Parts: sequence; C-alpha cells; structure tokens
Amino acid sequence: MDYHVHTAFCGHAGGMLEDYVRAALEKGLSEIGFCDHFPLLHMRDPSLTMAPEELPRYVEGVLRLREETGDIKILLGIEVDFFPSQMDEVAGLLEAYPFDYLTGAVHFLDGWGFDDPRYLEEYRWKDISLVWERYFQLAMEALKSGLFDVFAHPDLVKKFGFFPPDPPIDLYREFCEVARDSGVVMEVSTAGLRKPVGEIYPSEDFLVMLNRFQVPVTLGSDAHHPSEVGHAFDQALVLLRRAGYREIVAFEGRDRRSIPIPS
Ligand code: ZN
Ligand code: FE
Ligand code: FE
Ligand code: ZN
Repeated sequence: MDYHVHTAFCGHAGGMLEDYVRAALEKGLSEIGFCDHFPLLHMRDPSLTMAPEELPRYVEGVLRLREETGDIKILLGIEVDFFPSQMDEVAGLLEAYPFDYLTGAVHFLDGWGFDDPRYLEEYRWKDISLVWERYFQLAMEALKSGLFDVFAHPDLVKKFGFFPPDPPIDLYREFCEVARDSGVVMEVSTAGLRKPVGEIYPSEDFLVMLNRFQVPVTLGSDAHHPSEVGHAFDQALVLLRRAGYREIVAFEGRDRRSIPIPS
C-alpha cells in the first residue's frame, strides 16, 4: 500500500485523484491512501495547500472514487502541518469528515519553511545542530498532541543533506521514547530518495532504533505525480526488514491492523 499521495488540490502536485488510483492499480498495489495537504490556517498559499473551502470537495472526491472503484482499497487521509497554537481549531475542522487516518508533519520551524527550496538560503546562516533540535522538539510535540495516527517523513530535516557534525543519537532516542508512548505510527517514506539527501526517511540507524522501541510503521511515497506512486517500495521493504521490521500497519476508519512484510 501507499499511504501518502498528493493531488492537484494542493497546487504543487500533478494529476487528479483518478490518475493516482490508476497508477496504483498499474503498480499492483492493494491500497492507496490520499494524504493531501490540509489548508494552512494562518496563510493562504495556493501553491502549498488546498483552500479551506476545497476540503469538502477533496473528501467527496476520494469517497466517490472509493464507491466507483472495485479493484483497490481507497483510503481517506490528510497531511496536517503541526502548528502548536492551531491544533484545537484544526481538530474541530477535521471532525466533520470520515478520515481513515490523520498524518502529522513538521514543515515549518517557527515560520521558516525549512523543506521548501525557496528558503534554502536560510541554512547558510543557521546552526545546523539547533535546526535539528528545533525540528525534533516540534516533532515530539506533534506526537504528544494526540491528534495524529501517523507521523510523516520522521527526519525530514535532513532533506537537503545538512546533518549535524555528530550523529544525533540522543535526539533519535528521545524521539523514539515519545513515539513509543504516543502510539503514533511512523511513516517510512521513499520521497527522500528523490531529494538531495538521496535516502529514505527515516535513516537506517534511526529506523533500527524505532524498531528497538517497537514503534510501528507504515509506508508512503509522498507522490506529487502519479508516476511516483509506490516509488522504490522494493528498497523500502528491504530497509524495513534489515531494521528488524516484520510487519507494517494498515488503517481503516482510524483503526489499525498489521500486515506481514513480504520477504
Ligand atoms: Zn506537497
Ligand atoms: Fe510533508
Ligand atoms: Fe506529503
Ligand atoms: Zn510530505
């Protein structure tokens, strides 16, 4: 299954809902989970997310497609940016819809879109260790918020290949403890393979530790084009097994079940 695909609703992805379903069928996937960007409440940017008034249309589109399509399971998810002060309002807006899972993500550090190539320059005058610390602080807050079933691309902060001088083992460990206690499922995302860092989120040492803390995982491509659906999942499954995982989590109506990883 691929639990993280976008659509043209977000303004920076190509392809409509049905194009992604077709791509998933061609890849032989058994499930596809739409996980487009939830509206940013404090700023309207049609190149980043759908507008609030588009949310009902996104939901209806996915649900209609589910009714029309027999050969594949279609899930309704959404990728929500974590902003500490907005989560009550967001929870209220999400309540109205029958999501199968809610995916949390951190794409902003105190207003800086650190994974946005438009603001890449900021890295030049930032202390990378502090950037990593702030990212993981917010990520842990997101886990503790209780709003999310899944946490997307757990070490997104490595996207452009800026790593702290020493492996951030302490940050990983602290995060793993919070992840275990929160019950939030971690997303293994192949999107990093298509980015400057050139590796899956999370990194292997991080994933090994998550497994040691018995944190469950799910799988996503973060496709922004139908051709990216299920991208490099063979690599992801190899990595998962190497890290000690034998099963991944599937969702339905916010309930989970475990599926064995094929060897
Ligand atoms: Zn996106
Ligand atoms: Fe994301
Ligand atoms: Fe995404
Ligand atoms: Zn994403």
